[in-house]
Amino acid sequence: MKKVGLTTTIPVEVLLAAGCTPIDLNNIFVTGGKGLELIESAELDGFPRNLCAWIKGLYATAMTNEIDAVIGVTEGDCSNTKSLIEVWQSKGMRVIPFGFPQSRQREAMVKEIDHLMKTFEVSMQQVNKVMEKLYPIRQRIKYLDELTWRHNKASGFENHLWQVSCSDFNGDPATFLKDLEVQISEIEARSPFSDYEVRLGYIGVPPIIEDIYALVEANGGRIVFNEVQRAFTMAEASVHDSIYDIYLSYTYPYDLKARLVDIKKAIAERRLDGIIHYTQSFCHRGIEDILVKQQLGIPVLTIEGDLPGKADARTKLRLESFMDMLRDLKE
Ligand code: SF4
Repeated sequence: MKKVGLTTTIPVEVLLAAGCTPIDLNNIFVTGGKGLELIESAELDGFPRNLCAWIKGLYATAMTNEIDAVIGVTEGDCSNTKSLIEVWQSKGMRVIPFGFPQSRQREAMVKEIDHLMKTFEVSMQQVNKVMEKLYPIRQRIKYLDELTWRHNKASGFENHLWQVSCSDFNGDPATFLKDLEVQISEIEARSPFSDYEVRLGYIGVPPIIEDIYALVEANGGRIVFNEVQRAFTMAEASVHDSIYDIYLSYTYPYDLKARLVDIKKAIAERRLDGIIHYTQSFCHRGIEDILVKQQLGIPVLTIEGDLPGKADARTKLRLESFMDMLRDLKE
């Protein structure tokens, strides 16, 4: 079975229909415990110091794992991916390009997904079969999200981890579902969190800082909305949606406008007191912070991360002050 690395969420149904094992390189990079070593090895291969750590991590993760090919997302994710693809290709890595059309036009999306299906030699019938299998898993993930914000039982980190893992279903959707059911049973049996005063939303790319959720909880708050991670799940899709519909409604690859609508809805529905906007050092998406702060209408704390690991003292202090301020505002 071929192992195919992903640089971000793509129509994973196509890979699964082809019998491939999808591997989200981001997840391996950040959970593998070797983040700093991987960044160093990318820098030894010539990647600049002042480049986003995720890009260096993705590069080295693909080079050091037995990956047969990588899907490089050329549109809708990261402006650095095109150059990353060229370096991979120069090292002999097979790279299959995929783009989320910025026009968000149906015909363009049909063309992209059909091209991916052709590359992996799968039919629409095979893809639909996979979609049928993934639908109930996505609905269970949606329930886990509700266990976080509605029932106050799942932690912000659990919510983050399960949702972010929907990009590749940990390579094996059947095992993913079994593990998810065990986790859901455990969460259901808990009493709701009661010793917290502040409800927060987390927006922006997933954090490279590993203890952000724990720090929020240590300061009397909870993250009950993970914006991009939730978008990765495609859990809002209807059972009748085609694969084209699913990836046209996916918010992350397109403009900020649609994301802001989604975030505002969550602010109202999940009764959020504030937002943490995570930005990554040297990432073009940091510019979005200007509009986020102008348009959300609730307090926003921008946190910038650089290398994998725990938050630095300055971030801890800023988070603590933000939580104090939100508590005062509530009082
Ligand atoms: S954080 Fe920004 S620069 Fe880094 S990989 Fe993601 S989109 Fe690209």
